[in-house]
Amino acid sequence: MPEKTKHYDVIVVGAGPSGLNCAIRLADAGLSTLVIDKATFPREKICGDALSDKVISNIKTLPSPIYENFHKLVEKLPCYGIKFASPNFTELTIPYALAQNPDDAAGYIIPRKSFDHFMMKAAEGMNNLDLITGAKVIHVECNNSECQVSTNENTYSGEVLVGADGAHSITAQKLTGYRYKNHPYFIGLRAYYENVKGFDANNYVEIYFTRKLNPGYFWIFPLPDNQANIGVGLPYRDYRKRAINLKHELEQLTNHEPFFRERFAKSKLISTIRGEIIPMGLQKRQISGNRFILTGDAAGLGDPLTAEGIGNAFISGRLAAETIIKFLSGKNPEEYSLKAYDERIRQYLGKEFKLNKKLHQLTRYEQLFNFLFKRAKDNQSIINLFLKMGNNLDARKMLTKPSLYLRLLLGFKR
Ligand SMILES: Cc1cc2nc3c(=O)[nH]c(=O)nc-3n(C[C@H](O)[C@H](O)[C@H](O)COP(=O)(O)OP(=O)(O)OC[C@H]3O[C@@H](n4cnc5c(N)ncnc54)[C@H](O)[C@@H]3O)c2cc1C
Repeated sequence: MPEKTKHYDVIVVGAGPSGLNCAIRLADAGLSTLVIDKATFPREKICGDALSDKVISNIKTLPSPIYENFHKLVEKLPCYGIKFASPNFTELTIPYALAQNPDDAAGYIIPRKSFDHFMMKAAEGMNNLDLITGAKVIHVECNNSECQVSTNENTYSGEVLVGADGAHSITAQKLTGYRYKNHPYFIGLRAYYENVKGFDANNYVEIYFTRKLNPGYFWIFPLPDNQANIGVGLPYRDYRKRAINLKHELEQLTNHEPFFRERFAKSKLISTIRGEIIPMGLQKRQISGNRFILTGDAAGLGDPLTAEGIGNAFISGRLAAETIIKFLSGKNPEEYSLKAYDERIRQYLGKEFKLNKKLHQLTRYEQLFNFLFKRAKDNQSIINLFLKMGNNLDARKMLTKPSLYLRLLLGFKR
């Protein structure tokens, strides 16, 4: 029988972006917090390694000097824009407004092994924060008065539990009955290459909605030291229906597709090719309950259009911390329910998910997609619309309006 240990205010299972972002904020607010992760850091995480402005703006609100130290990381590359291509390889380049300070780019590309280790280092040594790594959580349970978390060695107890344990979350399974196979998810393969040529000088991330993968895509993201993160992915439903061999598809694109041939001619694969899933925010799920909250991939918050998840992991980690701080600060915690978290997630991400779900459907119309890109290329008002799309939902909404396509069809420039 495992030994019982210290009682915490909060136990966070998982030390990825959502777990550590949440734990750092809880400890900073004076709550005794325990983080448990099965991995020892630095550890690999299969990912495209692209951090959006959602992540950067969130890091800025973490206790000092985390943001300052983030700038000192040499493993990262500032990114000043995105290049998209429609299924017939019509390219559209969307430069982010150039930051005045080159240290203040809207996005970065950094191997997750380095970024997650950086977050772990930021958490280490904080007051009120205990970190246990290399310990797999095998059981969790919550009742009206506390939560218990068991590894093979110990059982830990806390007032509240945060399930930040990723796509295959044991906390979501045990506390909500979640099974990832019953929900929509994106499946992706990632590989590291060196000596890929032809990147833009502003380190654009490149996303190609190829005919075979659309509404999924092939990505080429530059990294420091002449390296690149390359991958392919698509919704699992399409992957199954089309019986796609993703590894074969990646090899086809990098070795045989004429459009990319020159860029990969002298490149070298420097890692194994590995796959992982991202639960997509396409369906409503239980994300909180009696003394627990789920964050990031454990809550199924992958973007319905791009499947990017680090930004939403950060947002949910912050909203979870704020909800828990309020919950535990009341004389009678039950007066303020953790259910408030669901409403805050809805406020922050609800509209965006709804809209991106629609755009995800639109990308399925290949001809429309090609047409939009062809017309957009030489239409500054459409490029401006794409530029605004990053954090302006009204701009994104325009893309779902038939009137936009009618105007383009008729040759209107504005
Ligand atoms: C191929 C691919 C490409 C992607 N590319 C991008 C991208 O470029 N940009 C982007 O924003 N998002 C991307 N994502 C999504 C992104 O990786 C995730 O959304 C993000 O990592 C979620 O963060 P998290 O903290 O919720 O979970 P994770 O980062 O998965 O962290 C979960 C942590 O929990 C730990 N854990 C799991 N189970 C247990 C257990 N039983 N006991 C103890 N610890 C446990 C794990 O070791 C891990 O450290 C990609 C995903 C994939 C698969």
